[in-house]
Amino acid sequence: MTITEHIAAVRREMAEAARESGRSERDIILVGASKMNDAAACQEAIAAGVDALGENRVQEMTAKLAQNAYGGAPLHFIGHLQRNKVRQVVGKAALIQSIGSEALLREVEKEAARQQLVQDILLEVNIGGEEAKSGFAPEETEAAAVLARELPHVRVRGLMTIPPVETVPHGNLVYFEKMHRLYVDINGKIYDNELEYISMGMSGDFADAIRAGSNMVRVGTAIFGARDYTK
Ligand SMILES: *Cc1c(COP(=O)(O)O)cnc(C)c1O
Repeated sequence: MTITEHIAAVRREMAEAARESGRSERDIILVGASKMNDAAACQEAIAAGVDALGENRVQEMTAKLAQNAYGGAPLHFIGHLQRNKVRQVVGKAALIQSIGSEALLREVEKEAARQQLVQDILLEVNIGGEEAKSGFAPEETEAAAVLARELPHVRVRGLMTIPPVETVPHGNLVYFEKMHRLYVDINGKIYDNELEYISMGMSGDFADAIRAGSNMVRVGTAIFGARDYTK
């Protein structure tokens, strides 16, 4: 199957899950997670109607930007971001989804101020409480949102999470539901319910994420095929 056909299939599954949760397919944003796929693949995905592309690695993103891989769609940064690479991402990515620590939040503020722009971000939440994973603990997220509100060059547009690797089918539904409750709570308390995005769901679980309230899914393998890690 081609990238275009894969996207059509993903869109159908998204539409069905959206309907099951009382929404329409237009309410859910599809971000193509294009890591390890070249500029031509990115362009095919954009032509086939992904809403945005998401990259994980700064070096790869920079190289593909130079090839105009993302022309025609917003670029999101979705991977783990090191503080010393913030300068290469701020002002380049329309949305940085992976702001998971206070130090990183402050670094983005500093760089956005230097560039005299306001950087849109999502706060990443470590919803499964995993030791090795970055992101704010659920109970720290409200404080992070309060801090972010004081920073004039960042604008929080929503929350993002990467749950634990699923060990049984639908195993992450409980995390998606927990994340949705946190989103609703923080949205009401801090943002007058004007926060727009809850980014959760990948190839194996985006339908469950949507059923639990996600409105932004990040899909790689189901669009681009399996990644070749031997290269
Ligand atoms: C790679 C990646 C995805 C997509 O993963 P698939 O399982 O290939 O769909 C989503 N989100 C993040 C942060 C990723 O790094």
